[in-house]
Amino acid sequence: MADIIQLLPDHVANQIAAGEVVQRPASVVKELLENAIDADATIIKLIIKDAGKTLVQVIDNGKGMSTTDARLSFERHATSKIRTADDLFHLNTKGFRGEALASIAAIAHVELKTKQEQDEVGNSIVIEGSNIVSQEVVVTPKGTSISVKNLFFNIPARRNFLKSNTVELRHVFDEFHRVALAHPTISFALYNNGSETFNLPFSNYRQRIVNIFGNKTNEKLVPVEEETEVLKISGFVGKPEYAKKTRGEQYFFVNDRFIKSPYLNHAIASAFEGLLKSGNHPSYFLNLTVNPQTIDINIHPTKTEIKFDDEHTLYALLRSAVKHSLGQFNIAPVLDFER
Ligand code: ADP
Ligand code: MG
Repeated sequence: MADIIQLLPDHVANQIAAGEVVQRPASVVKELLENAIDADATIIKLIIKDAGKTLVQVIDNGKGMSTTDARLSFERHATSKIRTADDLFHLNTKGFRGEALASIAAIAHVELKTKQEQDEVGNSIVIEGSNIVSQEVVVTPKGTSISVKNLFFNIPARRNFLKSNTVELRHVFDEFHRVALAHPTISFALYNNGSETFNLPFSNYRQRIVNIFGNKTNEKLVPVEEETEVLKISGFVGKPEYAKKTRGEQYFFVNDRFIKSPYLNHAIASAFEGLLKSGNHPSYFLNLTVNPQTIDINIHPTKTEIKFDDEHTLYALLRSAVKHSLGQFNIAPVLDFER
């Protein structure tokens, strides 16, 4: 009998993993922005061409990488963020899987430039489809710049599957907004095809929301604050009269990470019960701070899903906090004439 099982070569394994991590240009945007945040950057620039299909570049002023780390960062399961399985229960970084750069480099043309504060010169690495094309010493500012060009150049089926620039750009903006909202004290800028589309200075949460969604948003925001032994809720909900037929602006963050949770979305919506015309959806910008030991964010590579130890309590607390805020601002039920 012949043995037929083989271990896949790294570049093949990386390409397969890439399928999960990178769906579209916006996925690259998310991974690179999160890496910049994990590197303690205070100023982050995002540069996009053709909705990210031709170029996604992130430039940060964070701590940079050493020569060895610059090379290692493209290896699969190579991370500076966790060391033991136990660290998974005390996460305070966005990343921890050590998969993003390896995946991205497997399916694009990537150029990394990075320098640590104490070093005179930095390193540049060019890597295409997991092959290192060059690694050399360069003069570059403190921090890291990563350019991702020609996404899916070696997977034509994936490339063809990308949507129009309008649709892909909307996804890019969504990711950018999510990250920028979660970190109001970091300054972000977005340049799209050479023109500045967003310039978000260092600020507070309310101001960040207004800078992204426009001055008119300011008067729509009702603050929500609640703190118990197990969690802290803070942020804003939109006044009921500004609710929309479309889902609108619904942002829910857990420990500074954007999370999709239909269950907790329902908790918020139910706090608006009787206040909204039927078919309208509330807007919200809510942050939950919980003990990292009580959540599991390891259930999906893009980490937008989360598992809570005690979802029911969370539901009740969230609902009552939002209800309380709406009540305090004397927001009375509206009669639903449209029904
Ligand atoms: P993860 O973020 O899960 O650790 P990545 O593949 O995204 O995995 O990055 C691998 C490693 O490369 C990180 O752990 C970090 O040490 C380093 N790295 C990536 N991006 C940056 C950056 N912008 N600044 C400094 N170090 C970075
Ligand atoms: Mg990462």
